[in-house]
Amino acid sequence: MNAPATPRELASRAITRPEDLVGYELIRTLVGFPTVSRDSNLELIHWVRDYVERHGATTSLTFDDDRRKANLFVTFAAQDGNATTGGIVLSGHTDVVPVDGQPWNTDPFTVVHKDGRLYGRGVTDMKSFSAIGLAFVPRFLARGLARPLHFALSYDEEIGCIGVRRLIAELAPRGVQPLGCIVGEPTGMELVVAHKGKMSWRCRVRGHEAHSSLTPHGVNAVQVACEIVAYIARRAREFRDAGAHDGAYDVPFTTAHVGVIRGGTALNIVPRDCTFEFEVRHLPMDDPAAFFRDVEAYAQRFLPEMHAVDPATFIEFDHLSTLPGFDTPDESAIASLGRDCNATHACGKVSFGTEAALFHNAAVPAVICGPGHIAQAHQPNEWVALDQLARCEAFMERLADRLCTA
Ligand SMILES: [Zn+2]
Repeated sequence: MNAPATPRELASRAITRPEDLVGYELIRTLVGFPTVSRDSNLELIHWVRDYVERHGATTSLTFDDDRRKANLFVTFAAQDGNATTGGIVLSGHTDVVPVDGQPWNTDPFTVVHKDGRLYGRGVTDMKSFSAIGLAFVPRFLARGLARPLHFALSYDEEIGCIGVRRLIAELAPRGVQPLGCIVGEPTGMELVVAHKGKMSWRCRVRGHEAHSSLTPHGVNAVQVACEIVAYIARRAREFRDAGAHDGAYDVPFTTAHVGVIRGGTALNIVPRDCTFEFEVRHLPMDDPAAFFRDVEAYAQRFLPEMHAVDPATFIEFDHLSTLPGFDTPDESAIASLGRDCNATHACGKVSFGTEAALFHNAAVPAVICGPGHIAQAHQPNEWVALDQLARCEAFMERLADRLCTA
């Protein structure tokens, strides 16, 4: 019988059997917990906590207000007892987006292998990275840790990077000062050192109902909303045509869009209410607050005409979320470690937001590198290629070369 292939060997040839991966069993286990953001993640968290504690880790949980969900922070101390300083954080969110209404060909929460791909909700976004990191724990320990190794597993990432903020808030008070953090969101295993920031809002337009034969007696909330939507679309074109550009991003300029709009009840009624939600995903040099002030100012121009019909009409805005961007310098220790582990000199930037920005802003320098592609995330029949997983395992092996004494 042949000895099992090492990850480095796996990375250097096409693999066809998922059983050859170090992390396959753990990927199956983690995907098997249906941790859709709206549901509890505690089963998964408790399973992982038990697993790492069996290997000698110390753990701490931070809960949401209802104690239905938790973050798990894990520390494997270095051989010299150091549990706080200069370690590496492997970071992943445990929640996944819903599968409701999506045409899946297989059970989303059972990993299926077919033609060199694993299918299942979360195989790309982003349970495989966490599973592979956890599967490598025995290898890291066998080689002896020269510095601490941490895992940060969060809840509610998919609904605005909510959960991890509580985990991060506890690091400094507990004296945990890692060298850096590797966030395993899907980048096709390319090293990413920056991403855009994001802000989002809801706009609520209150008009005045009338019979549709008497439109001047009403205030049409749908039409007012659409004027503001059209302004947002115009500003998006200006960002594209005349705004700042950074060619390192896949979309090299700031984007803005309206994703949801609801209004009206029947064609023969002038609609009283309309709401829509919009977001901006901005380059670090563009100010999302300035964009929002412009939208607000533009909306004001409709109020005199609306109030002339009914003083109770209004246009109001709710802030929904803010996720900062981040930009880790190429020459930083974590970027250099990431390049070494990836055996590449290339660094990229991406347009989608991640928890990396929150670590970065809490003085934990971050990079993003994980298996699979963002294009496959959130899709029905979400999949990840076996060769991506093999590259992730080669990354972990090289990480062990740099974290371990032997
Ligand atoms: Zn994700």
